[in-house]
Amino acid sequence: MIPCDAVIVGVGIVPATSLARDAGIGVNNGIIVDRRCQTSNPAVFAAGDVAEQDGFFGGRFRQETYQNAADQAQAAALAMLGQEVSYCKPMWYWSDQFDLNIQFCGQIPVDAEVAIRGEMDSNAFVAFFLAGQAIEGVLTVNRAPDMGVGKRLVERRARASAASLADAGVSLRDLLKQAS
Ligand SMILES: Cc1cc2nc3c(=O)[nH]c(=O)nc-3n(C[C@H](O)[C@H](O)[C@H](O)COP(=O)(O)OP(=O)(O)OC[C@H]3O[C@@H](n4cnc5c(N)ncnc54)[C@H](O)[C@@H]3O)c2cc1C
Repeated sequence: MIPCDAVIVGVGIVPATSLARDAGIGVNNGIIVDRRCQTSNPAVFAAGDVAEQDGFFGGRFRQETYQNAADQAQAAALAMLGQEVSYCKPMWYWSDQFDLNIQFCGQIPVDAEVAIRGEMDSNAFVAFFLAGQAIEGVLTVNRAPDMGVGKRLVERRARASAASLADAGVSLRDLLKQAS
């Protein structure tokens, strides 16, 4: 027995890549795709959990989120139709757990400086994860409207001080405008 206050069960997936592998298509941690969602076989496209893609902050990985499955599928469809596509988005996901709406965008950098806007005890707050002054990750708990701006701050690689992000008197939209 291990005494503890809480237990977190992490349930994930293993990508079904055997069909692609058997067809001679490049597979690593998932089916390897470029920013057009094209595999090593130009007639074959992959999207969603199964696709290993360019990471927004570098590296290659699979995104296991509903939003990526929807957005990357759309990008793959446009690419199949011959349109210009360069899909590379920061991860964004949400989950409703009892009375909590939890959303996250981006990544949590190593040694991140964390700025909290709102009171964590109130179960309604925003957390910003900074690398230097670059906003790389945004977490909202019961503050979904703030994710609209938070996502764009991450996508635009906006910079701001932890003090201004934590200050509820500073408009996030103004910080976004300054970053544009
Ligand atoms: C427990 C759990 C909780 C999650 N919670 C969240 C969440 O809160 N928020 C969030 O954003 N994401 C969440 N996710 C992730 C989200 O469910 C996935 O990112 C999303 O469903 C991926 O969609 P997809 O179309 O890429 O893959 P899937 O939804 O897995 O669809 C792939 C389909 O392909 C089929 N298939 C596989 N091989 C073959 C084959 N050879 N021939 C024909 N069909 C085949 C499979 O049966 C499956 O139906 C969760 C996932 C899990 C497991």
